[in-house]
Amino acid sequence: AVNGRTPLLAGNWKMNLDHLQAIAFVQKLAWSLADAKHDFDSAEVAVFPPYTDLRSVQTLVSADKLPIAFGAQDLSVHDSGAYTGEISGAFLAQLDCTYVIIGHSERRTLHGETDEVVAAKTKAALRHGLVPVVCVGETAEDLEKHGPSAVPVAQLRAALDGLAEGSEIVVAYEPVWAIGSGQAATPEQAEQVAAALRPVIAEILGADAAAATRILYGGSVKAANIAGFMREPNVDGALIGGASLDLDEFSSIVRFQK
Ligand code: PGA
Repeated sequence: AVNGRTPLLAGNWKMNLDHLQAIAFVQKLAWSLADAKHDFDSAEVAVFPPYTDLRSVQTLVSADKLPIAFGAQDLSVHDSGAYTGEISGAFLAQLDCTYVIIGHSERRTLHGETDEVVAAKTKAALRHGLVPVVCVGETAEDLEKHGPSAVPVAQLRAALDGLAEGSEIVVAYEPVWAIGSGQAATPEQAEQVAAALRPVIAEILGADAAAATRILYGGSVKAANIAGFMREPNVDGALIGGASLDLDEFSSIVRFQK
C-alpha cells in the first residue's frame, strides 16, 4: 500500500457466530489487540457479522469505545417498504455501520446478484452514508478464458456506473477460485488485478478518489500469507473469511506488520 492509504483488515464472518458469540469474539479481539499494543492508525480493523449480531456489536463497541469498525454483509436496493426479508441501508446506518459488503461472489452465485443489482446496492449504500465494500473477482473458468483482469475490471466498471465523482468506496478483489479453497492468489497476481482496477476507479470517481480508495485482496488470506499481499503497492488490506473466525489467526493477520 502506498499514498497514505490506511490498510483495512476486514473479517467477513459469513453465516457464522450468533449475537452472543459475536459479543465474546469482538471483546476478545479488542483485548488481544490492546495487549499487543496494536496501532489502529496504522491498520484499521473491521468485522462483518450477520445482521442479527449488529445491534449487539454496536452496543459493545460504543460502550467500551472499541477501535473496531463494523458493517453488514449485504443490504437491500430499496430504502423501505413491502420487501419481506430485506434490510435497508437506513437501518444499518442507524446501527452505526461504517461499511457494507456488496456483491460478494456468494451473493452473485447463490442469490443471482447481477452487475445491475450490485450497482443498485452500491448506490443504496452511499445514499445512506455507508461505505460500500464492492467485491469483484473472476472464476477459474473466467481466468482461463479471459485472463486475469478482464472480468474484475468489467464487474467494477458496472458496479460504479453512475456514481458521483469522489464517492468513498472500498474495493475487494476476490478471485472466486481462491475463496475458501486454501489456494490464495499470489501477491503478484493480486497486485496485477488491483493495478488494473485503480484506473477504473479514476475513470469514474476521479483521480483523487482513486488514489484514496483501498483495494483489498480476499481469498484464503491467513497469518502466514498476509505480509506478502501488504507489500504490494496497490493492495491496501484484505477481506478475510475463514481465518477471521479464529481469534488468534485474525489478530495475527491484523498485526501483520510485526
Ligand atoms: P476466505 O473467504 O478467506 O475463507 O477464502 C474470503 C471471502 O469470501 O471474503
